[in-house]
Amino acid sequence: MGARESGRQVNGEFAVVIRGGRVVDPAQGIDAPRDVAIEDGVVAAVGTNLRGRAVLPAEGCVVAPGFIDLHSHAQSVGGHRLQAFDGVTTTLELEAGAIPVAEAYARAAAEGRPLNFGYSASWAAARIQVLAGHRGDGRATTMLSHFANPAWQREATAAEEDRIVGLLETELAGGGLGIGVLVGYAPGTSPAEYLRVARLAASSRVPTFTHVRDLVAFAPTTRMDGAEELVRAAAETGAHMHYCHVNSTSLRHVDRVLGLVDRVRREGATVTTEAYPYGAGSTAIGAAFLSPERLPERGLRPTDLVYVPTNERVRNAEHLVRLRADDPGGLCIVHFLDETNAADAAVMRAAITHADTMVASDAMPLTWRGAPADETWPLPPSALTHPRTAGTFARSFRRLVGDGALSVAEFVRRASVLPAEVLEAASGGAARKGTLAVGADADVVVFAPDAFRDQATYEASTRPSAGVRHLLVGGAPVIRDDALLLDARPGRPARKA
Ligand SMILES: [Zn+2]
Repeated sequence: MGARESGRQVNGEFAVVIRGGRVVDPAQGIDAPRDVAIEDGVVAAVGTNLRGRAVLPAEGCVVAPGFIDLHSHAQSVGGHRLQAFDGVTTTLELEAGAIPVAEAYARAAAEGRPLNFGYSASWAAARIQVLAGHRGDGRATTMLSHFANPAWQREATAAEEDRIVGLLETELAGGGLGIGVLVGYAPGTSPAEYLRVARLAASSRVPTFTHVRDLVAFAPTTRMDGAEELVRAAAETGAHMHYCHVNSTSLRHVDRVLGLVDRVRREGATVTTEAYPYGAGSTAIGAAFLSPERLPERGLRPTDLVYVPTNERVRNAEHLVRLRADDPGGLCIVHFLDETNAADAAVMRAAITHADTMVASDAMPLTWRGAPADETWPLPPSALTHPRTAGTFARSFRRLVGDGALSVAEFVRRASVLPAEVLEAASGGAARKGTLAVGADADVVVFAPDAFRDQATYEASTRPSAGVRHLLVGGAPVIRDDALLLDARPGRPARKA
């Protein structure tokens, strides 16, 4: 039997050793110079003077458990590659989710993925199927194309609600990582249905991932304040309620929202939060809250929107109405906050520095001007997205660690350890991630802290982040010596056990 097949170190040598870096592993309380050895896709040893048949030099670099992105719609080879340069080793579609999850997993496995991947059961797709008659095919873009259809956004009858919940139960049984609940896009939904979905999550012992309903401050006619609804569900049902992008759905009300979250957490509820460090959001231009009549609720004008497929600023209300009619699922960028304005910058910062807020990108699918070329690398200029797809983790690091707000270890806790705990809950304990402890999956990011920075902008949205020297997924390099390995597809599914 050869050295590779034996699964053990041979003559004191491991298959791979990451040598001479600063290992930052908050789960084990390690922040020190160490070598990391890998055998058979898992961490085999952490120590000094380890010898390897392959050696990855890491002098001057941080060596950390790879970042886990709980919120990524960029589920394609090209999307994963952008996220790899941002330090991500596991990227999960949990907010929108998929239906059928089996189809989403099968497609990803057939195409191959650079990073580990996973999907929640999609409440929105279940509603689109039951209320609007369109079956899901496991693709986010198909779901987006039905977003503007008011049929799925209305209140369900009792019988319809039974079918929606029944579909979710089936999808959880099929491996879905919890339930993604885009209630903010379906304003007619009854608060009772939301509670019922939370109860299903509680009894299935999985988290939910919510894009909350409107805050009362935005829409006084909302059926319930979105933040109150989420924390109430956590308190009343005992479900783990994950609050997606608390920055973009709270905006200038972030202090009130986080105050509510803190209160129910103190009382014993399980609420977790995430944020991304950009003043602009991104969604389908046909979303209910982006109609010209409703823009003023968030202090927006049509000119605050950019239509991604052509990269053009929306000119006026008539232009917006036309775009919404012609391409309701088309991506747009919504400039909510002015990042150059001190008060708005403080709002963004409050969301992301709050205790235990995780880093999560809300990475968007790549939109193509012309024919898709997802497997081309570097991505051609015809690929368009929101810069958060490429730059969330590096930008968070640069802003929060660079200015001394967080230590490197605290950053790794928010980018790897805390999301690994959520994945652990969603997968029923199947994951061994978020740490470099012996036996953990060898998902490792090696980055130069002084060089780690985002490079994507609203104009050049697919420019990869800089500073990741090596990135390993299950022990296999995806980035080695700063370069992408084009053939690397070591990504494995994360699913509910
Ligand atoms: Zn969202």
